[in-house]
Amino acid sequence: MSARILYGKEFAAQIKESARLEVEKIKNNFGVTPGLAVIIVGENPASQVYVRNKHKTCEELGIVSEVVAMPEDTTKENLLAKIDELNADKNIHGILVQLPLPAAIKAHSDEILNRIDPKKDVDGFHPVNVGNLVIGNPQLVPCTPAGCIEMLDLAGIEIDGKRAVIIGRSNIVGKPLFHLLLARHATVTVCHTHTKNLAEIAREAEILVAASGKPNLVTGDMIREGATVIDVGINRIAPKKLVGDVDFDAAKEIAGAITPVPGGVGLLTVAMLMKNVVKAAKLQCA
Ligand code: NAD
Repeated sequence: MSARILYGKEFAAQIKESARLEVEKIKNNFGVTPGLAVIIVGENPASQVYVRNKHKTCEELGIVSEVVAMPEDTTKENLLAKIDELNADKNIHGILVQLPLPAAIKAHSDEILNRIDPKKDVDGFHPVNVGNLVIGNPQLVPCTPAGCIEMLDLAGIEIDGKRAVIIGRSNIVGKPLFHLLLARHATVTVCHTHTKNLAEIAREAEILVAASGKPNLVTGDMIREGATVIDVGINRIAPKKLVGDVDFDAAKEIAGAITPVPGGVGLLTVAMLMKNVVKAAKLQCA
C-alpha cells in the first residue's frame, strides 16, 4: 500500500494564516506591528532567494520586514555594530543573520549570532534559547525542527510514546529536534556519521527523520512498515533537480506517511519563522 504523502504547502498555509491572525491581535492589543530584520552579507545567490522569500512572506502577513544588505567585505565589527543597533530598535522584534557568512568572517559566525538579543533571536540559535530548549522551557526554537513537529501535529500523527530516530546531529536540525521530540515524550535516538548499524536503528523508527544532506542515504529496506518518514534533506543533484535524503519511490511503498522533496517539510521553515517573529513580539510586549 502506498504511503500518505505529506505535502508542505497546505500545512505551511495553515501556520501562516494563524500567524497573520496573531499579528492582527498584537496590533489591536498592544498597538505594535511585529517587525523582522534580516541581515544579508554579500551576494550569495541562494541566500538572496531565501531572504526575498522571507521578505515576501512578512509582507503577506502584515509583519514589517527590513532587509539589511551589507557588502561582501563587511568586517566583523561593522556587523556587530549593526546587530547592536537592531537590538536597540523598538520596531524590530526579530533579527536574523542569513547564513553562510562570507569566507572572511565565517569563522566568527558564533560570536556574531550570539550578539543577537535572545528575545529577538528568531532563528533560535542563541545559547540562551538552546539552553531553554534543553531544560524543557522552549522559547524561540530553530524553525526547521519546529516545522517537523508542527507537521506531525497538523497531520494528526501521534508523537507521545513513539520510537523516533533522527539521522543527523547538527545544531540547526538534528540536536534541537532531539529535544523537541523528547519534550513530546518520544523515545529518541540520534544517528550520525560514526553510527554503526544505521539501517538496523532506522528500521526501529516509528518516526524517522532524515537530516543528513546525503541523497538516497535512506533506502526502502531501512524503513519500518507503516513508519512516518520526514525528509529534511535538500540536495541539488543537477542544476534543476532537488532531492531529499530518502529514496522516495522505494520508501513510499513501505512507509505509512512520507514528506516529498521538494514540496515537503522544507516549506514549513519560513512559516515557522513567521510564528517565531510573532512569539518574539509577544515576549517583548509582555
Ligand atoms: P549538516 O551537514 O550540518 O549535518 C548533517 C548531519 O548528518 C551531521 O550531523 C552528520 O553526522 C550526519 N550525517 C551525514 N552523513 C551521514 C551518514 N552517511 N550517516 C549518518 N549520518 C550522517 O547539515 P544540516 O544543516 O543539519 O542539514 C541537513 C540537511 O537538511 C541538508 O540537506 C540541508 O540542506 C537540509 N536543511 C533543510 C532546511 C529546510 O528545509 N528549510 C533547513 C536546514 C537544513
